[in-house]
Amino acid sequence: MQLQRLRGWTRSGFFLLFLLAPPLDLFRLDLLKGHFIFLGMNWEFGLAALTQGELTATAAVLKIITLGFLPLVLFVGGGIWISWRYGRLYCGWLCPHFSVVEMINSLMRRASGRPSLWDNKKLPETESDGTTYPERGFYWYWTGLAIIGFSFLWAVVLLTYLLPPAMIYSNLLSGELTRNQGLFIGVATLLFSLEFLLARHLFCRFGCAVGLFQSLAWMMNDRALVVTFDRDRGDACKTCTQACDNTCPMRLQPRKNKRHMFTCTQCARCIDACEKVQAPGESLLHWRQGDESSAQSNRQAPTHFK
Ligand code: SF4
Ligand code: SF4
Repeated sequence: MQLQRLRGWTRSGFFLLFLLAPPLDLFRLDLLKGHFIFLGMNWEFGLAALTQGELTATAAVLKIITLGFLPLVLFVGGGIWISWRYGRLYCGWLCPHFSVVEMINSLMRRASGRPSLWDNKKLPETESDGTTYPERGFYWYWTGLAIIGFSFLWAVVLLTYLLPPAMIYSNLLSGELTRNQGLFIGVATLLFSLEFLLARHLFCRFGCAVGLFQSLAWMMNDRALVVTFDRDRGDACKTCTQACDNTCPMRLQPRKNKRHMFTCTQCARCIDACEKVQAPGESLLHWRQGDESSAQSNRQAPTHFK
């Protein structure tokens, strides 16, 4: 429970950072100026100065290495190392897209009993972990509102990563967006709406390069952090609504082995659900690393539960 509260804070904080990075000049690419802006400073590699004869070729190469190549290697290398050891932590604990996925899952489940339009059967209204999702048709309005609202927000935010945020906000509020700005926001809102409605899990699985590379790095390490299932106590599942499966935002079955968990985001919602079904400290699902996770990675998947 505390872990989920902590995750709520990290996700909210990062979502706020995602919205505020452009107006606070923390990070954006200014297409009008033709360079990045990072922590309030112009992040450029001196190519303009080189062509104007204000910088020697050697100094320009040094600038590209120190300001471009090295930060990129450190950033990507650091990300791969974290994923190799801990899996898709970024997805489950920070990613703004995954926050929207979880919210829409929850609203859709309240509207229809299914967290996704592609789920074949309805999930129980009351889970063994005590959470309830009473089915109410009016939740479709909230679902639609959330999908369109977040799609519009994302479209505007993405545009502020490319053009000066003050200009975009001012044009938007005064209804004076240029044709291209209006087109960008309109098309992006439409595409995001379709993606959030129909393909949000598919995007997390195969469409997002950041997610895919985290998964690949994680799968290469048998000893990485992984959710494991205590099979010796597996009989305890017989009376459960399969709360762990039903709560998984990625629609995975957390009791299966690692090969079936390629897109696990380490959100730990399954562990939390089982702890509520059993008792504090008695969850059948655990995070494991090292030898124990290696055993989990290599074992055969159970063919069927319950
Ligand atoms: S692992 Fe826990 S939550 Fe999942 S089915 Fe078994 S008892 Fe239920
Ligand atoms: S398997 Fe568990 S930790 Fe992984 S995404 Fe699903 S709920 Fe989260």
